[in-house]
Amino acid sequence: MSLLTIGTVAFDDIETPFGRAERVVGGAATYISLAASYFTPAVQVVSVIGDDFPTETLDDLRRRGINLDGIQVKHGEKSFFWAGRYHNNLNDRDTLDTQLNVLADFDPVLPEAYTNADYVMLGNLTPAVQHRVLDQLKVKPKLVALDTMNFWMNVALDSLLEVLKRIDILTINDEEARQLTGQHSLVNAAEAIFTMGPRFLVIKKGEHGALLFSPDNVFFAPALPLAQVFDPTGAGDTFAGGFMGYLASTDDLSFDNMKRAVIFGSAMASFCVERFSIERLTNLSRPEIDQRVQRFADLVHFTR
Ligand code: AMP
Repeated sequence: MSLLTIGTVAFDDIETPFGRAERVVGGAATYISLAASYFTPAVQVVSVIGDDFPTETLDDLRRRGINLDGIQVKHGEKSFFWAGRYHNNLNDRDTLDTQLNVLADFDPVLPEAYTNADYVMLGNLTPAVQHRVLDQLKVKPKLVALDTMNFWMNVALDSLLEVLKRIDILTINDEEARQLTGQHSLVNAAEAIFTMGPRFLVIKKGEHGALLFSPDNVFFAPALPLAQVFDPTGAGDTFAGGFMGYLASTDDLSFDNMKRAVIFGSAMASFCVERFSIERLTNLSRPEIDQRVQRFADLVHFTR
């Protein structure tokens, strides 16, 4: 099944307790598409970059079979840029800078072949662009997921609330769920989010794992305890890419299969954080991924 994804394709400056990396490749769509490419061969990307973006990275994505026909290149303009600094616990971070650059007036145009996508992952970017992508779909997708962050809640809340009415599943982190709903309890936040449109919700809690909610069920997946977490940037997007890639490849939207998708997404995120930027995501193998999924199964298995 095909998976259409949108999101930023970007440069990041990252500071962690272990070091700094300047102008490394990042962006939600970069992480999502790479993670998803390990599960489904038909990953399609819609995004915008300036002519400063490295062609080698685009070639790396193409080598993974990712379709980049929906990426616009704006000549003489700069790609989206984000700078962040992680706290010592690596779970919390401060945004130091967000430069929209090419994203400021981005009008996405879906190539014809994308307009009947089976699965859609609306990665983190302007809610108005997320709307515009949904407007161009000719066939109702089987599942539409959306990821967003506090930045867009602060600058475009009305538009975000409108797009939430059009999606099936929202993925956000715990603090963002609290900000969006004004509820401290995540159970109450989930209830509030179900009244906004989505039928499913994933709340990402960094090194404390992820929760999957439907109106009747809840599932918890831990994060893998890792000896070395180097750079958490992109973990949420990588999770989303693995989650949606797995669902697109299995084409089964039962709650049981969604639980498996959460574990595959968590496994992909555990690779992402082991190196800076997308380094760890460009040359994984499916047996490596399956072994990691087995570690999740071992981690939570017990008899009583
Ligand atoms: P994550 O760590 O999964 O939340 O995603 C980090 C990625 O999101 C980075 O590579 C950034 O380039 C990108 N990013 C940061 N801020 C924004 C924003 N306001 N809109 C879209 N993408 C962003």
